[in-house]
Amino acid sequence: MRPTGKLHLGHLVGALDNWVKLQEQYDCFFMVADWHALMSEYENPQNLKENIIDNLADWIACGISPEKSAIFVQSQVKEHLELFMIFSLLTPLGWLERCPTYKEQLREVKGRDLSTYGFLGYPALQAADILLYKAQVVPVGEDQLPHVELTREIARRFNSLYKEKIFPEPDALLTKQPRLLGLDGRKMSKSYNNFIALSEDPKDIRKKIQGMFTDPLRVKRTDPGHPEKCNVHSYYEVFAPERAKQIAPACRKAEIGCTDCKKELSEILVQTLNPIQEKRKELLSNKDKLFGILEQGKEKALAIAEKTVAEAKKVLHLL
Ligand code: SF4
Repeated sequence: MRPTGKLHLGHLVGALDNWVKLQEQYDCFFMVADWHALMSEYENPQNLKENIIDNLADWIACGISPEKSAIFVQSQVKEHLELFMIFSLLTPLGWLERCPTYKEQLREVKGRDLSTYGFLGYPALQAADILLYKAQVVPVGEDQLPHVELTREIARRFNSLYKEKIFPEPDALLTKQPRLLGLDGRKMSKSYNNFIALSEDPKDIRKKIQGMFTDPLRVKRTDPGHPEKCNVHSYYEVFAPERAKQIAPACRKAEIGCTDCKKELSEILVQTLNPIQEKRKELLSNKDKLFGILEQGKEKALAIAEKTVAEAKKVLHLL
């Protein structure tokens, strides 16, 4: 995950909840991708360190466990860059230029100049992030599938060029995670400022939820509503699915008004986030402990990363 700002509800339901479960099945490596963050934020790096610690506190508060998993920062394991360099040698330019997310971001990200050498190469760095640990599976959303495919191609190319099977071809682990739209119905994103942060103050949660778009056809309190067209209802489906089933008929019969419906949702979110926020506060009051977790994660990561890079360098006849 790239530490580019505060984590929000979209991160919780789209990734973190799933990561917490994956820890029970796999040896997981969770990386704060600070090099990747710099690829788009290189002009404004001043908040990077703060974001790293803030995101880390959120991860742990949400249940990512330093005992079960390796939690580390990408730039602290220099092997990522060594393997990135090796992959840069053998990755054809066309593979990178064709990457759909690369083209999409160049088109859509405003206010930053992404036509850089580093940004073009970021899928090769992602391949290094994955293959450094000889990962078997990578939990991704559908939009990231081309990157896993590219990683598989890079692994194949390396293995076939040097006639040694150093890298396995990882599989994408697609999990059907609920998709949570932003408060305004667009994709939830920092740049649209349409999110609720995991650390959001209850007062601000209430204010933001009251400002949410609802069913556009429901103008008056007495108009019957269409919960299937209402973003507030989709939040109920994610955070209080049982209550969502009761709200839907009440909304259709105009038995509940949008103000009350939103008020109740605010309280559900305040309650959901409360234990995370308490834990987060406790963690952030002892930053040394957080740095200790990163140190421990770095050691776990290095134990594998050093071996993999040594194998790759040997094949390349490097000293
Ligand atoms: Fe949406 Fe609730 Fe209003 Fe129905 S009552 S339109 S679900 S906010």
